[in-house]
Amino acid sequence: MREYDAIFIGAGQAGPFLAARMAAMGRKVVLIERKYLGGTCVNAGCMPTKALVACAKTAQMARRASEFGVTIPGEPTMDMSAVAARARKVTLDARSGLASWFDSLETMDVVYGQAQFAGAKDVYVNGTRYTAPQIFINVGARPHIPDVQGLTDVPYLTSTSMIELAELPRHLVVLGGSYIGLEFAQMYRRFGAAVTVVERGPHLAPREDRDISEAIADILKRDGVNVLLSQKLLSVAMDGSDVVVRSDQGEVRGSHVLVALGRQPNTDDLGLDLAGVETDRHGFIQVDERLQTNVEGIWALGDCNGRGAFTHTSYNDFEIAAANLLDGGDRKLSDRILGYGLYIDPPLGRVGMTERQAKEAGHRVKVSTRPMSRVGRAVEKGEILGLMKLVADADTDRVLGAAFLGVGGDEAIYGVLEAMNLGATTEKLRWAVPIHPTVGELVPTLINDLKVTISAM
Ligand SMILES: Cc1cc2nc3c(=O)[nH]c(=O)nc-3n(C[C@H](O)[C@H](O)[C@H](O)COP(=O)(O)OP(=O)(O)OC[C@H]3O[C@@H](n4cnc5c(N)ncnc54)[C@H](O)[C@@H]3O)c2cc1C
Repeated sequence: MREYDAIFIGAGQAGPFLAARMAAMGRKVVLIERKYLGGTCVNAGCMPTKALVACAKTAQMARRASEFGVTIPGEPTMDMSAVAARARKVTLDARSGLASWFDSLETMDVVYGQAQFAGAKDVYVNGTRYTAPQIFINVGARPHIPDVQGLTDVPYLTSTSMIELAELPRHLVVLGGSYIGLEFAQMYRRFGAAVTVVERGPHLAPREDRDISEAIADILKRDGVNVLLSQKLLSVAMDGSDVVVRSDQGEVRGSHVLVALGRQPNTDDLGLDLAGVETDRHGFIQVDERLQTNVEGIWALGDCNGRGAFTHTSYNDFEIAAANLLDGGDRKLSDRILGYGLYIDPPLGRVGMTERQAKEAGHRVKVSTRPMSRVGRAVEKGEILGLMKLVADADTDRVLGAAFLGVGGDEAIYGVLEAMNLGATTEKLRWAVPIHPTVGELVPTLINDLKVTISAM
């Protein structure tokens, strides 16, 4: 049996940083990882996908070159092995950076293998028992494969296997019209594949307000992505070299199918019952405001607790745990104002509540929108698709949320994110002097145009 001050299960975006903080304080910690350091973000998520999005953007700009007075003869051709190699390099560089950092920490051990609880203070890995008074679970999530007739009998792709794909599909059928599916859909269309998105709901990116969802669909359709909405998936089957996806609305045939229908936590093979740790019916570990599970001495951080699904929410879980356990702080999950990006091109930057959420939460809402075609910076760059939207409380003047779908939207949203974290009113924001020409310079204009809305979104 090996004794430690703390055990960390999973080398994702929360646990390793807390482990390193503890190790730097001289505590003896062990980090257990069954696959790769860095978890999903580094190896199969944000980093490789955003590297691929950059390749797709370059192909698209080559196609549009003549609009900018640049002559590139003919349709660009893709070297998909070079594309995959570029994404792989981004991953490997980040992974090896983490490995060297952890190597430098004297009281931190890294063990590779599947961890399973043997009790509330004990974990088994490769037949060895590890024990500690504190255990931090950071096991993340994986693609959810729903129970659809025939699906597991066809060679389906997931976001993980897509990253390594070094060929161009003739026709990629993407099941699921949410964030992950949409990024791959546009990217592969720009690489030159025919792409069809099959979405169950009446809108893409169903969590967003309808005007934003419709603008997202418009962006994808202009790229030539075929979008099928309100499709109840019935079956998937092979017919020769075609994969045939059948829904209640008809069928679509492709050469490859990507399943992007949500993610499920990696908690089913952890032996949580032996530690007495409770999950909800989807397998997400139940935590309190300070990320502690129902078992004293066990915390759950990152995607596996179902309270966030992003790298920055996972990292923020580390910050909350570190502040409370190491720095005498009092930080809570509910202090977090959620922001995120959808990295189609142009991207969506989001923060806080949508208009619909604000109304459902009982706010009297003021809304302002502006098409990107009326944003100088976007016009100059020749990127006029999308819109900016700001939502505020009509009674308190507080900013409640924003969606910037357009060129630079993922960066410009920061002005609103910071303002919300500082509790700024629209009156304060209106008097900030923005830099010209930027996308963010339109925030004071959006504030001046705020109007009370009552209709549902
Ligand atoms: C395609 C894609 C694109 C994404 N893009 C973005 C983006 O642009 N921005 C963003 O913020 N987020 C993005 N995400 C989400 C982001 O990657 C995750 O939210 C984030 O990685 C979650 O981190 P985590 O710390 O919770 O767990 P993970 O990073 O998933 O790490 C968990 C680790 O635990 C290990 N593990 C699991 N079970 C065990 C066990 N029993 N024993 C030992 N080890 C175990 C796993 O191997 C893994 O390494 C994307 C995700 C995907 C799939």
